[in-house]
This record gives sequence, structure tokens and C-alpha cells, in this order.
Amino acid sequence: MILPGKTIGILGGGQLGRMFAIAARRMGYRVHAFDPIHYGPTGQIADHEVNAPYDDIAAAQEFARHVDVVTFEFENVPAETLAAIEKIKPVHPSPRVLDTCRNRLREKKFLGSIGVPVAPYCKIDSIEDLKHAVQEIGTPGILKSAEYGYDGKGQMKIDDTTDLAKAWESVGHAPSVLERFVPFDKEVSVIAARTASGEIACFDVAENVHKNGILDVTTVPASIAAATRGEAIAIATRIAQTLEVVGLIAVEMFVVEGRIIVNELAPRPHNSGHFSFDACLTSQFEQQLRAVCELPLGDPTLFQPVAMANLLGDLWANGEPNWAAALTDPRVKLHLYGKTEPKRGRKMGHLTAVAASVEEAVQAVTTARDAIASPP
Ligand code: AMP
Repeated sequence: MILPGKTIGILGGGQLGRMFAIAARRMGYRVHAFDPIHYGPTGQIADHEVNAPYDDIAAAQEFARHVDVVTFEFENVPAETLAAIEKIKPVHPSPRVLDTCRNRLREKKFLGSIGVPVAPYCKIDSIEDLKHAVQEIGTPGILKSAEYGYDGKGQMKIDDTTDLAKAWESVGHAPSVLERFVPFDKEVSVIAARTASGEIACFDVAENVHKNGILDVTTVPASIAAATRGEAIAIATRIAQTLEVVGLIAVEMFVVEGRIIVNELAPRPHNSGHFSFDACLTSQFEQQLRAVCELPLGDPTLFQPVAMANLLGDLWANGEPNWAAALTDPRVKLHLYGKTEPKRGRKMGHLTAVAASVEEAVQAVTTARDAIASPP
């Protein structure tokens, strides 16, 4: 066990690392952050920040020497860097888990191999592959780059009128997948935590609404049938078990006529789990800490229905948002990530509200968010 007083190294310096660092420091751990950018969201909270590019193996190894265990909040750390760190200190989840989850093809192959349903897809390495795949999969479809995509980036919807050469150009001629468009009723996600001894705990199923490919609002519990909820949790548990994750795995899913189709995996805390900070006995960040430190997992029970609304950089279009207005409703909690450049589509913070019902919670966070956007 890695006990309080020890030092956790986190690769990546964004908001997921920031909230992890808050949870870890609250429990008496020290946190070192590795981030190419100085004084990032995580570095502002960590005890120590190392600034170097992710491919600086010597810097990464020096970082590893001063911590007791390494975890990450950013998936695109080069495999060579992770391998070099792993020679010095344990890395959780393992680089092998990361390798499976950060490439859409490997991810889908893995899911298929354990019988988890995914949307029909084809591997694309050339414009010819794309033309054949459109024939095979049919339209509408979505072309996604196999790596480095997030928040709908590196993705393009394909229909009968799409210029396929342009679509192939849009993913930078990089290895990709064409997926059939899933006519989903809802999008949901489950975050599972697993320890090295095999203990698993799942957060309740979250219901997610995206806008322009970016998560907009999450509500928990999801309004789905009990059987669908059971299926979603069983699938997340099976994935955590078979991948032998030590840490967290977030599973994004589509609900189609009550059945689950898995869209994507992320072996780290997830935006759709931010509700847990204010609405659960144990947050996803504390759960990540407990798992990577080989402590027993905490109880993820949800206290009350909750809603979470993301605050994107767009809210800064007319100057500094009206924070006082956000805090008028005493049920609303404000989380800001300490980012200084509010770009369009950039996640700057979020709001959560707990209430007697999901509907009331959504009303509270969306009203507060609308008020933030209006000048004081
Ligand atoms: P992703 O980056 O794969 O999480 O995709 C971002 C969002 O695009 C998802 O949350 C969905 O709203 C939408 N999307 C992605 N893939 C599909 C699909 N095969 N069918 C329908 N919608 C999709």
C-alpha cells in the first residue's frame, strides 16, 4: 500500500489532474505533476510541477525517481516515455491498458474479443479503403482518426453527398475507422474503479448530452430501464476485469432500444464523472487515488440526483462571466480549472447541483449557466 505522506506522480496537467491533486492532497499525499506547460491546472495544486515535453525520457525518468507511483490524466503520453518510467516506478493503469484504449481500432478489437457490442466499423488506411467501407457500412457513418481524437475532433460525419477525398483529408490521411452512425436513444457512461487485488466499484450510470461533439450536461441517475442500467454496469465491470485495470476506466455507451453499444473507453477520470465530486460518498478522483495506491476502494454511493453542466470558453465571449449570478442558487457548486485562456470549446470549468429530482438539478445548473453568460 502507498500510504498518506507518499508522493503520487501524475502525467498531464489539465483539469482531471487538478481534481485528482485536490483529492490526493486532502488525504495527505504529495503530488508531483508532469506537464509541458508551466503552472497548468494541475501544477497550480500540486506540490511540485515538472515542465518538459512528453517525449523527454530523461526528464520523465527523473520525475519518476521522486515519486512512489505514477498515474496519468492524459492519454497521449508516448509509449516509450511510459516504458522508461515503468522501469523505475509502478504506472497505474498499466501502459498496456493505455495502449489498448488510446487507439480506436485496438479498443474495438478488444471489445469485440470479449463479446461487447460496438457499432459496425472498418479500418481505413487509404481513400480506397474509405470508398469500400462506405459501400460495406452504408451511410450515415462517422469517420474517426484512430488516435489523438477528443471532444469530436478528428471526426467527420459521412453521408451520400460527402466528398470522400475531403473527408479523408479532414482526418489528415491518418489511420482511421469508419463507424456506422448509431441512431441512439441516449448516451450514457459508467466509470469503474478496480484495484490490483481485483476489487471493483462502479459509479451509477450517468446520462450524457453532447453539443458539437463536446459533453454539455450529465445527469445521474440516468433515466433508463433497470435492465439497461444493469447491462451498462455489467459491461463496465467486465471491461475493467478483463483489461485488469488498476485505477479507473470510463466506458462511454449508446443506448439503442434498451440495449448497450460501447462507443469509447478512457482509462482515467472522465468529464461525465465530475458529478461524483459533489454528489457521491467517494469521488472518481479519490477512487483513482485509492486504486493506484492499492488502498481499499471507497463507497461510490450517490447521495441525491445530480446534474453537471460544462462551462466552455465560449462563455467568456462578452468578457469575464458573471460568477455572482451562478452562485445565487445555494444548491449550485462552481468548479473552475484555473485556465487563463478561454478559447471556444475549451473546458474551463463546470457547475453541479444536487436536488430532489434530476429535472430540478438540471434546471438549477442550466439556469445558473445562462445567468453566468449574461452581463452583470
Ligand atoms: P467520441 O469522440 O467517439 O466520443 O464521439 C463524440 C460524440 O459523437 C459521441 O459522444 C456521440 O454523440 C457522437 N458519436 C460518435 N460516434 C457515433 C456513432 N457511431 N453514432 C452516432 N453518434 C456518434
